[in-house]
Amino acid sequence: MALLSLSGLDVRYGAIQAVRSLDLEVNEGEIVALLGANGAGKSTTLKAIVGLAPGKGEIRFAGQAILGRDTEEIVRSGLTMVPEGRRVFPSLTVGENLRLGAATRGDPAATLRLRKEVETLFPILAERAGQAAGTLSGGQQQQLAIGRALMSEPKLLLLDEPSLGLAPQIVDDIFDLILRLKARGLTILLVEQDAVAALDIADRAYVMANGRIIMAGPAAELRASEQVARAYLGIAGEHAA
Ligand code: ATP
Repeated sequence: MALLSLSGLDVRYGAIQAVRSLDLEVNEGEIVALLGANGAGKSTTLKAIVGLAPGKGEIRFAGQAILGRDTEEIVRSGLTMVPEGRRVFPSLTVGENLRLGAATRGDPAATLRLRKEVETLFPILAERAGQAAGTLSGGQQQQLAIGRALMSEPKLLLLDEPSLGLAPQIVDDIFDLILRLKARGLTILLVEQDAVAALDIADRAYVMANGRIIMAGPAAELRASEQVARAYLGIAGEHAA
């Protein structure tokens, strides 16, 4: 059984239909990439999953129908999103940002345990615990944004464009980190514009255009498909020779 399944998902913003009859599944332990050009509907799909965009259709997580539930309840059930743009609270310290991520738990012992786990995963966050988050580098802020999401102890992590605006070397580090999260048993749905990097770490991928899924399959197959490269992923140069 899939950990997350979307069936016939529609999302409308007034006259704009951002997502159309979308079917998508994420199985336990997988990294699934959701790819597509700007405006294809990827972020809206993630927002609908966590109850932040008005969806119709069916969304099931761990066997439960979650469409229409409050975001807080969805997060407590084990599903967390790291939004685009590595949003941290810049004037709060790194430690305070992490504590806020655990705010839905209300269990101090669990918060402490999670904080230790996150700081083991990202030693820089322990080193900089007392420093304002706004003074961290872009890559460190992305680690903090992911670390904060991990403080809610998710089973499934939704990552929206984690590579956006980061230098290539830092992007490699973030993708390595995503693989380490998978190795720790986390399931991941990854929205990315850097299709090549995403397909290199994903098990399966979906490609969206104009609110619909236009292609889906094992990541290695999509990575090798010239049709995908030319038409949808903007990596034609690599395959042109
Ligand atoms: P990007 O990478 O640019 O975020 P995306 O694939 O994530 O692209 P969405 O952000 O989901 O695409 O946008 C899908 C469509 O919905 C676009 O036409 C966008 O203009 C529209 N849209 C997104 N958010 C809203 C909103 N809050 N109100 C109205 N229209 C919106």
